[in-house]
Amino acid sequence: MDTNAFENYQLGEELLKSLAILKFKKTTKVQHAVIPSVLDNKDMVVKSQTGSGKTAAFAIPICEKIDWEENRPQALVLTPTRELAMQVKQDFFNIGRFKRIKVVAVYGKHSFTTEQKDLKQKTHVVVGTPGRVLDHLERGTLMLDAITHLVIDEADEMLNMGFIEQVEKIIERVPRNRVTLLFSATLPDDIEKLSKKYMKEPAYITIQQEEKISSKIEHVLYEVNDKDKEQSLINVTIAENADSCIIFCNTKQAVDDLFEKMKSLNYTCEKIHGGMEQEDRTRVMADFKRGYFRYLIATDVAARGIDIENIALVINYDIPQNKESYVHRIGRTGRAGKTGKAITFMALYEEKFLMDIEEYIGFKIPHKELPDNEKVKELIAAFEEKMSVRAKLKEDKGIGLGQEIMKLHIASGKKSKMRPVDIVGTLSNLEGMTANDIGIINVQDVSTFVEILNNKGNMVFEALQTTPIKGRLRRVSKANQ
Ligand code: AMP
Repeated sequence: MDTNAFENYQLGEELLKSLAILKFKKTTKVQHAVIPSVLDNKDMVVKSQTGSGKTAAFAIPICEKIDWEENRPQALVLTPTRELAMQVKQDFFNIGRFKRIKVVAVYGKHSFTTEQKDLKQKTHVVVGTPGRVLDHLERGTLMLDAITHLVIDEADEMLNMGFIEQVEKIIERVPRNRVTLLFSATLPDDIEKLSKKYMKEPAYITIQQEEKISSKIEHVLYEVNDKDKEQSLINVTIAENADSCIIFCNTKQAVDDLFEKMKSLNYTCEKIHGGMEQEDRTRVMADFKRGYFRYLIATDVAARGIDIENIALVINYDIPQNKESYVHRIGRTGRAGKTGKAITFMALYEEKFLMDIEEYIGFKIPHKELPDNEKVKELIAAFEEKMSVRAKLKEDKGIGLGQEIMKLHIASGKKSKMRPVDIVGTLSNLEGMTANDIGIINVQDVSTFVEILNNKGNMVFEALQTTPIKGRLRRVSKANQ
C-alpha cells in the first residue's frame, strides 16, 4: 500500500475525484506534513519553496473543512502578488470543483465593483493581496466573522514588499478561533515574531529542497558590451533556438524596448511587467503557458511563484541586482525532471552583482564566449524554420475538469428576482438530474451562470430550451468557459 496516496488521508469523495482528474496521485512532502495537521486544526509554520506543491498543501484540507452551507467566507489566503492570488484562486477552484467551492480573488488594479458583487454572493474562500483585502474591510464589503482558516503565503515576500503592517492589521480582524498557516521560503526574525504573536503553538516544519538550484540547469555567463547587447541577444537566441524562453530585464522600460526590437525582427514574442493592465498580464501568462508564442520578455513580476512548466531557456538580459532574484528567475527552467539552461549577460561594471550571486548559489557560473558570426550563420536557417511554425499547444491543467463541466448562461438575474434556489429547483426536476450534478451558481444583475457537472451539460442545455425557470421560458446558452 502506498501510504502517500491521497486515498489514505481523511478526504471526502468530491476532493478525491478532483485530485484524480488533476492527476495528483500521491502527496508531495509538504502535503504529507500539512494535510493531516490542518485536518486536525493545528497551526503551522512551513518553510518551503514554490514548486513543492505548497498551494495544494493548504487548499486540499481547507476545501475538505469548508462547510458548503455557510455563505460567509471561511478561509482567507493572503498573497504578496496579484499573479499568485490568481493562481491560488485557480488551484482552489480546481481542487474544490466537485465540492462546488466558491473562491473570489481580490487584488489591486482589478475592478473593485466586480469584487464587491462577487463577495456579496456565497463565497467560501477569499484570496487576496493585503492592500486590497484591507480596502474591502474598510469599506465593509468583506466579512471575516466566519473565517476559520487563515493562510499567509510567501510571508517573507510580504515582508520584502513592505506589506507586513497591513498583514498584521488584517490578522487582528480575523476571529481568534481559527487555524493559521504561514508559508515562507525563508524565516527572517520578523516572520518568526509574527508567528509567535498571532499563532497558537504552531508546529514548525521545514521541507528540505533537494538543492537551492536544480542540478539539471546548465549555467552560462556571457560578458557583453552595452552597445552590442541587442545583437548579442539575437545571436544567442539563434544559436540556442529554444522552444520556449523567458528573457528577463530589470526595468519595465527595458522590457518595452526589447519587446519592440524583437517584434520588429518577427520573433514570436510577448512581454509582461507590472505597468501593464492586469487583464493583459493574465492573458500573456496564460498564452505563454499554453505555448502560443516562444519568447516572453519580462521583469521579475513573472519570476515569483508562477508555475510554468518546462521552460527550455532563461536569459538574464540584465543581470539580476539581487541574488535571490537569480534563483527565482532561473527556477522557471529545469523543472519536473527536465533539463534547462540559464544564460546571464553581464557588463564588466556589473561584476559585483555576479559575485553576490555566485556566493549565494555556492558555485561559479562558467564564462563562455558568445557564439560567433560564423556559427550564427550556420544556424540561422534552423532558427527561422522553427520561428515560422507554431509550437504544439500544451494542455491546460484544468482541462480534464472542464470536460465534465459545462457552464450555462441564463438571460435572467437579480433584476427579475432570480435566486439560486429557483435554478436548483428547476434543474433538479429535470429527468436524470440530481442536486449533485449542479455546480456553482452565480446570479448577476441580468444574467445567471450555472455549472452543470458530470457530463450532463448538453442534456440540461437541451432541456432548458423548453423548460420554464421561475414560470417563464428563459434564453439559455452555453457560456464561454
Ligand atoms: P506549488 O508549489 O503550489 O507552486 O505547486 C507546484 C506544482 O505542483 C503545481 O503545478 C501543482 O499543480 C503541482 N502539484 C501539486 N501537488 C501535486 C501532487 N500531489 N501531485 C502532482 N502534482 C502536484
